[in-house]
Parts: sequence; structure tokens; C-alpha cells
Amino acid sequence: MKIDKCSFCGREKKEVNLLIAGMEGHICDNCVEQAHAIVEEELKKDQGFTTNGLKLLKPQEIKDFLDQYVIGQDQAKKILAVAVYNHYKRLNQPVSADETEIEKSNILLVGETGTGKTLLARTIAKMLHVPFTIVDATVLTEAGYVGEDIESLLTRLLQAADYNVEAAERGIVFIDELDKIARKGDNPSITRDVSGEGVQQGLLKLLEGSIVNVPPQGGRKHPEQKMIPVNTKNILFICGGAFDGIEKKIAMRLNTKIVGYGAQKKADHLDRDNMMQYISPQDLKSFGLIPEIIGRIPVLTYLEPLDRKALRSILTEPKNSLIKQYVKLFKLDNIELSFDEDALEFIVDKALEFKLGARGLRAICENIMNDAMFDTPSTNVNSMKISLEYAHEKIDIVSSVRLKAS
Ligand code: ADP
Repeated sequence: MKIDKCSFCGREKKEVNLLIAGMEGHICDNCVEQAHAIVEEELKKDQGFTTNGLKLLKPQEIKDFLDQYVIGQDQAKKILAVAVYNHYKRLNQPVSADETEIEKSNILLVGETGTGKTLLARTIAKMLHVPFTIVDATVLTEAGYVGEDIESLLTRLLQAADYNVEAAERGIVFIDELDKIARKGDNPSITRDVSGEGVQQGLLKLLEGSIVNVPPQGGRKHPEQKMIPVNTKNILFICGGAFDGIEKKIAMRLNTKIVGYGAQKKADHLDRDNMMQYISPQDLKSFGLIPEIIGRIPVLTYLEPLDRKALRSILTEPKNSLIKQYVKLFKLDNIELSFDEDALEFIVDKALEFKLGARGLRAICENIMNDAMFDTPSTNVNSMKISLEYAHEKIDIVSSVRLKAS
């Protein structure tokens, strides 16, 4: 009797879980899996992925990708694109002793809340398919104080990488609210500065690249946990912060520098409404970041405040814009949802009024849409239009309830 065997590895049917028959031969489940892995690997190479699974896009391609999700912020996108390109180019470089070592380019994004700092970092991570985590610098404290140890920042990255240390070591960490750990005054205080300089010193260790022992579960609740060593050399840190009041420091620096012949002319050239564009590392120092930290975050850029036009675009243009998301949600209930242009303008007006940047858009839309999302699934309607009157009415109700409550 003929015994069926895998035509690839020669194992017999009883030695494998599954033997699939073909025209002239057989293949076992093991060989199918191996073949699949080979196909994946080869396809990745074709698409420009390097051997460690990273796709190295050109700066222009990175910017094009960002453009699909983030409105405006051209300057920040360009600088970010170059920094990320250089970072991953460096990472793919074979290490050799005699060659110039390319240094890591950690990035600082300065801009008001809700202008897209987190969104930019998140979109970059999505594009690169690398583990990504967001941490808030305000929760970090020096070891021994209430709050989270600096190392816990890497715990989150490890978790995002499913504890694959190698993947985490190529990941991106977004540190939000970096400005909140600035030293408050120029004089170090006598009481210890829990949230300031000490934390900056701790962060420094991570930013400059070292091997850090990370508690896999985070926190101090599990003193018996076995630490995982993680090398931060190739982790890209993108920091964000509003740096409230830094414009004054920028203006002061520019004004004191501009003296002498032709000074008035130069000063006139300054765009006083947007001083942030002139930000330089010196200003960060005046704000209270220690020079060592500034040196470890060499790429500095700013985000513009979002104007009416930008907010209007954010509502509908990005690939997963708010309005597109509502339309999709309704579509799942077979309801065609549409918005009148003046209703959209009204949403923008309200967002400007609340001064929350693009963050306000979401809250306003939720208030307008909530009743409709509650009611329509139980009805037979198959279309719904959000008019200015409808939007007005819903927002008025919410405002009057809030007024009564307060
Ligand atoms: P930040 O980190 O600057 O405080 P976020 O990136 O968290 O702000 O933005 C909050 C939300 O606002 C995002 O989830 C996004 O929906 C929207 N948003 C902000 N800025 C932009 C932008 N430039 N383009 C598109 N959406 C934006």
C-alpha cells in the first residue's frame, strides 16, 4: 500500500497534523507554515521593507502619508519626515567601528494643545508598523516618590510590542507635556523638586540610549517581578508640549538681539502673531529644560495654531475624519447621514469659541449627534440630514443644561 508523505519534508501522514493533497503530491501543515513565512518575507522585501521589517520611506513619501491624516502643519511634517527618515536609515546601517556614527534624532514638537502633536507621532508609528506608546510626562516622578518611575514609560512600550523586546527597541515613545517637567524657577529650591529637574535627569538616561531594567508589569505593586533589560539606543522619542508663555521668552531673546543699525527693520519683519516659529533651543533653556535634555532632543519644530479653515478641513478631509466616522457609523445601520455646509461651519464656530483646538470638534459633534445616534437605530428612517437648525438646537439644549447645573 502506498503511504502518503509530504512531498516537501518527506514526513508521513501520522507524523504531521494535517496532510493536504495536491495533483501530484502532498504538503504537510508544517511546510505550509514555512512556505507562508518565506512568501511574507519575500513580499516585504519587494515592498521596500528591510530585513528587520521596517519600511524605509523617503521623506517626501512620509510627508505624503502624514498629509492623509493631518491637516496643515507643513513645517512640522517636513522636519518630522527628515528626522524619522534619518533615524531609521541609521537603524538599518550595519555597525562598523571606523565609520562616523549617526546620532539619534529625538524630536520635540512645540504647539498649543489640540494642534496635532500626538496625531503626528501616532501617524508616524502607524506608517512604520512599529510599537508605539504615549506617556504623559506629568505622571513621572523620581524613584521613591508617588507616581510612576521613569522606567514605567518603557513598560508601556513593551506592552505595546507584546513583550517582544527586539520590536520595542525599535519603537516610538511619545512623551506628552514635556513642558510640565521644566524647572519652575532659575534657583533650585531647597525642598526637592519632585516633578522638575530630577525627572529630567531620569529621562536623560533613556533619551541618550542606555540599557534600562524595565518592570514588565510597571509600577511598584509587584516587587518580585523580574526586570527586562531594554536598550533605548534605537528607540525614537518624540516629545510634545504647549510651553505656555514661551513666546515671551522668544520675543525677549529676539528683541535683545536686535540692536544697532538696521535693527528696527529686522524687528518689523517679525511675525508678532506667531512668535513660536522662531523657537530655538535657547528658549527651551530659559523655560526651564536642562541643557543636557535639550541636547538629546536635537530636532525642534513647532505646530501652528489651527485657524478656521484648518478646523473646517479637519472635520471632513482626513482619511478618518470625524464626519466620515459618523457617516460610517450610521451606514452600519443602513442610514445615509449627511451634513449641511452651514452646520459644519457652525461646529467650527463653536470649537473656536471654546478654544480647544481640534479637540473641541469632537465634543461638539458628540453633543449634536448623540440624540440621533440614540433614536435612529430603533426607527425605519434610511436617511438623516444634519441642518444648521438641528445642530443649533442640540447645542442650545446642552448649553442650557450646563448653565442650570452650574
Ligand atoms: P495635541 O497632541 O497637539 O494636544 P492631538 O494630536 O491629540 O493634539 O489632537 C487632538 C485631536 O484633534 C486629534 O485626535 C485629531 O482628531 C484632531 N487634530 C488635531 N490637529 C489636527 C490636524 N492638524 N489635522 C487633523 N486632525 C487634527
